[in-house]
Amino acid sequence: SGKWAQALSILREFEEKCGTPISKLKQVADAMTVEMHAGLASEGGSKLKMIISYVDNLPTGDEKGLFYALDLGGTNFRVLRVHLGGKEHRVVKQEFEEVSIPPHLMTGSSDALFDFIASALAKFVATESDGLHFSPDRQRELGFTFSFPVRQTSISSGTLIKWTKGFSIDDTVGQDVVGELTKAMERVGLDMRVTALVNDTIGTLAGGRYHNPDVVAAVILGTGTNAAYVERAHAIPKWHGLLPKSGDMVINMEWGNFRSSHLPLTEYDEALDAESLNPGEQIFEKIISGMYLGEIVRRVLCKMAEEAAFFGDTVPAKLKIPFILRTPHMSAMHHDTSPDLKIVATKLKDILEISNSSLRMRKVIVELCDIVASRGARLSAAGIVGILKKTGRDAVKDGEKQKSVVSLDGGLYEHYTKFRTCMEDTLVEMLGDVSNNIVIEHSNDGSGIGAALLAASHSQYT
Ligand code: ADP
Ligand code: MG
Repeated sequence: SGKWAQALSILREFEEKCGTPISKLKQVADAMTVEMHAGLASEGGSKLKMIISYVDNLPTGDEKGLFYALDLGGTNFRVLRVHLGGKEHRVVKQEFEEVSIPPHLMTGSSDALFDFIASALAKFVATESDGLHFSPDRQRELGFTFSFPVRQTSISSGTLIKWTKGFSIDDTVGQDVVGELTKAMERVGLDMRVTALVNDTIGTLAGGRYHNPDVVAAVILGTGTNAAYVERAHAIPKWHGLLPKSGDMVINMEWGNFRSSHLPLTEYDEALDAESLNPGEQIFEKIISGMYLGEIVRRVLCKMAEEAAFFGDTVPAKLKIPFILRTPHMSAMHHDTSPDLKIVATKLKDILEISNSSLRMRKVIVELCDIVASRGARLSAAGIVGILKKTGRDAVKDGEKQKSVVSLDGGLYEHYTKFRTCMEDTLVEMLGDVSNNIVIEHSNDGSGIGAALLAASHSQYT
């Protein structure tokens, strides 16, 4: 019928606008490299903040002792305890606990959020077994992974630039987040010192390097997205401090805020952005990361329902609710291999209360998931190529077989198989022969371990 054709034409138009041929991906990678240069040249020189992390030494394996880490960056936070045994014994023991953040705390007051975190940490510390105990005059030390844009002022302090990923607490912005946590720890009677403040990309880079000395960059694909890499300190014009002995400085790119005229943006992305908590910001993140992919699918389905009666004469009420279709649901539908697509049918029924879906409708929905996921995955690959270009690792130098390992982590990368495969295939497509020297490695919770390792190397006692 005419309606069906109209629905398909909405899909085709969307597909066309989302197109990411290699020529376009190369432009995106080049734009990423250009913005990296600009962000390193001067503060505010680019949409890419290219934040100096103050991490100028990555773990070596010599780290020893008992250290804590706290990972806050999305809907959950994790507390970790790691017993490091040095070169010979490596990670002797590792324990963690995951706590979900009550949604009202994500938009409440700074004190309420940090009190909640400090109490959970205090409870976890109380489970420390006697065998691991510290000498009484030695303070416990913590690596704090805080995955929001922070203007770092030292390895263990930094002020919050803005919240992202659905957090919005005005009184934290501009504050030192280590100060906020330290005050909360004092309020709950926990004697602990934050010796390293990092974000998940830096933590993942540190954790990755601990296991593999060829790790040069880390990328997070989770609720949000970001990347960090090792830069040569003398290639950072905006750095006016002393050149570190190592000659290196880890840069937190905050690439979620990348934006370029080469990005394939659609009317749906523009509407999503305009109605978001942070309009005009985090545009790269809004077309790539787990917080948004399902929502983009929902928006396209909504248009197909409204303008082409895709689900019948009325628009399903649930379909109009922003963020109702989460990326894990989308992923489940996308991976449905049953001949009658019964997982798609079940998701439509359970989430959107659509019970009359036909097989051809379900096929269209799987295709829509594929368009949205492929665009995100291919653009992530282009971002990685941008980093490799900036560091001169996108070409084979004469005879040199330099391996470059990129540590990847985050729920989207970990669980969305088609996304991950597409991203990895695209890297090979973009890099050709050079891809033999590039390794993508899943750093399973490297970020927590990494923060503990950095807490160890920046201990007040060493
Ligand atoms: P965060 O980024 O909040 O620190 P994670 O790295 O665990 O946390 O990523 C969680 C995100 O990963 C979720 O918001 C979701 O978008 C995505 N995700 C989790 N599970 C799946 C899944 N099965 N399929 C696709 N995406 C998933
Ligand atoms: Mg995380």
